[in-house]
This record gives sequence, structure tokens and C-alpha cells, in this order.
Amino acid sequence: MSKLWKRMEDELNTRHESKTYNNIKILESPQGAHIKVNSQDYLNMCSNNYLGFANDKDVIKGGQDYLEKYGAGSGAVRSIAGSQTCHLEFEQALAKFKGVEDVILVQSGFQANTALIPTITTEDDAIISDELNHASIIDGVRLSKAKKYVYKHIDINDLQKQIEKAKQEVSGFILIITDGVFSMDGDIAPLDEIVKLKNKYEDVYLTVDDAHGEGVFGSHGRGLVNHFKLEGEVEFEIGTLSKAFGIAGGFIGGKKVLIDYLKQKARPFLFSTGIDSAMCGAGLAVVDKMSKSDDRVKKLWENAHYLQEQLQAKGLNTWKTASPITPVIVGEESMATDMTKMLFEENILVSPIMYPTVAKGLARIRLMPSATHSKEDLDLAISKIEKCAKELGII
Ligand SMILES: *Cc1c(COP(=O)(O)O)cnc(C)c1O
Repeated sequence: MSKLWKRMEDELNTRHESKTYNNIKILESPQGAHIKVNSQDYLNMCSNNYLGFANDKDVIKGGQDYLEKYGAGSGAVRSIAGSQTCHLEFEQALAKFKGVEDVILVQSGFQANTALIPTITTEDDAIISDELNHASIIDGVRLSKAKKYVYKHIDINDLQKQIEKAKQEVSGFILIITDGVFSMDGDIAPLDEIVKLKNKYEDVYLTVDDAHGEGVFGSHGRGLVNHFKLEGEVEFEIGTLSKAFGIAGGFIGGKKVLIDYLKQKARPFLFSTGIDSAMCGAGLAVVDKMSKSDDRVKKLWENAHYLQEQLQAKGLNTWKTASPITPVIVGEESMATDMTKMLFEENILVSPIMYPTVAKGLARIRLMPSATHSKEDLDLAISKIEKCAKELGII
């Protein structure tokens, strides 16, 4: 066999043997608290659809209306002939909602990081990144020619050390980058302290990737910057439409000059077609609903607190979470796959998370409550998790 195919087969075999092969589940229904897989009903405890918008009738209607009005595809990249009024309307609505001067839409949150980071930095600059930042930030940083520094997870003293070091070593500016909410642990970046620190220096700026903060933190789910009352203090905000917004797409928010610059220079914007009209219409419906009511955000938190308190009361370890993201530590890597499988047999869907995504020995299952889970749903999940954890000797 050739080297190429053999390498792939070997890697896949290794994954099967180490129980890390991901058997991707296929949903035969819309996304929601209850889904269909293999013609059976499952309680879904692992989607990012925090507020239930993915299958909301007003959101679907918004998408359908714009699909009719603007057609299925835009036919070109945004910078040639693919910018439609629906894109501008949605960008303006997002800017208003987020409390930033302007917004640029791109195809995903992942693309937002690869659009921003390499475009605004040069080899004269420095990037200082939290060690637990999301893969899309890491890839965005890899595409940049800037000098790279990593600081210990949410460690302000180490961040300061890295800033001092970078100040000695580069002539340009320094860009700090952090997730707002960290997706594996559910803890949050101390944005107030980071802003205070960066403001002590000239030419030190901050990017916050608010993927898991939007729809969750701040007034009406405006995000973590709003939660910390730091509007205007964070130069670059990355957003995704794929989590609480329940659709797909990503965006960057900031000053008008930044958005103007990115529309001229960011490669994912220049060389890849933008999100479609249906996403713009659906997204506008989401922003409208979130602006008018924060009932879903409140319900999400109520559910998150209930789930976490009950799990803790059973002796389970929900780790460092300060958000609805709910890790349940199981320890050994194989325990996470075993627990996931046992719960799947009980018709409950959770996601196993293990090394190298998190440190060895801290394997976990991750639960994502949403505003659309009922108390009965949560009680069922809690009792089945307790049962499986006992069987596995975790509690
Ligand atoms: C999920 C996530 C992304 C990717 O968002 P997509 O829109 O799905 O590409 C980017 N950054 C962070 C921090 C995330 O958690």
C-alpha cells in the first residue's frame, strides 16, 4: 500500500484501538432538546443551541422570507458582486446589538479568527494568546507573521510578564487574544483585569472571542464585554452565529476603520463567498427576538444552575465552570467514552472530551443545557448520569 493511504489507515486504526474514534451521530430531525438518531428519540445534552433558536418558527420564517427575496446564493464573493442589502442590514443589526461601531460578517466563527488575526498583524508585532484558546484562534495566529507568545491560562501575572517580554522584543504593537468563555472548562476570562492591565501600556490591544458568551452573558445576551461593562474598551470582538444564535456564520466587531480595513484586506472575505440570504434573514430574526426579550437567557441560566447544583449534590465534579457549559469530570480517558456510550444506550446524548483536548486524567463528559430543556429533561439527565457514574465507580 502507498505511504499516503497507509498513514491514514494507521491513524484510523489507532483511534479505534484507543477508543478515540469519533462515531459521528446523524440527526434525522431539527436541532433541539429532543432529537432523532437512528429512528429513536434522544435527549440532547450536547448542542450549542443555547437559546433554542435553531428550530424557532420566527427564525425559520425570517430565513424563508429572505431566501425568497434575495435568492439562494449571492453568486460572488462579497468584494466583487456578492454583497446584498441583507448582508449590510444584518451587519448593522449585529453592530447595534453588540454595542460596537461596525461589524463584518464572514462564513463562520473559525473564519472570523483567520480573517482578523493575520490581517491586522505584521512581523513587527506580537501576539499574546491564552494557552487554552480555541483551535480557530490558534490557526489564526499560525497564519500571522507576528512574534508569538503564550500566557498561562487566565493568569494575569504571566500575561504581564509576556507583555514586558514582547515590549523588549518587538517594535510594533501587541495583541492579546483570549476566549471569553473557555469551551472545555466553562470558565471565563477576567476581561476587567485584562483591560486594566493592557490600558497601562501604549499599543497593547485586546481581542475577545465571544463564541460561548453571546446569548449567555450580558444584558439580553449581548455577550461578555457587555457583562463586564467594557464596551469601547475591547478593540476586537469575534462572534459566531453558530452557537446561541442557532444558525451559521461569524463576525468581527470593532471600530469603523477596522471593518473598512478588513473589507479591503481580509482573505476569507475577499476570496470566499459570504453567508447566504437565508442566514441573514434568520439572524435578523434572532437579533430582533433577543433585543425584545431576555426570557430565554434567564431560562438558560436557571437550567444551568439547576443542572450544576444537582450534579454537585450527587458528588459529581463540575470543574471550574462559571457558565452553562457543564463538564463532569470522569478521570481516565476511556471512562469518558464508556460513560458516553452508556448514556447513549439510555437515549441521552453527551459529548466525551479527553486528551489532547484537555489534560490527561481530566477526561470528562460535557453537558450543554439550553433554554428549551424542561425540568423533567434535566432530572432525567441527572439521574442517568448519577446511575452511570456509580456503575463506573466515579462516585
Ligand atoms: C465554536 C467556536 C468557534 C467556531 O465557531 P464556528 O462559527 O462554528 O466556526 C470559534 N471560537 C470559539 C472560541 C468557539 O468556541
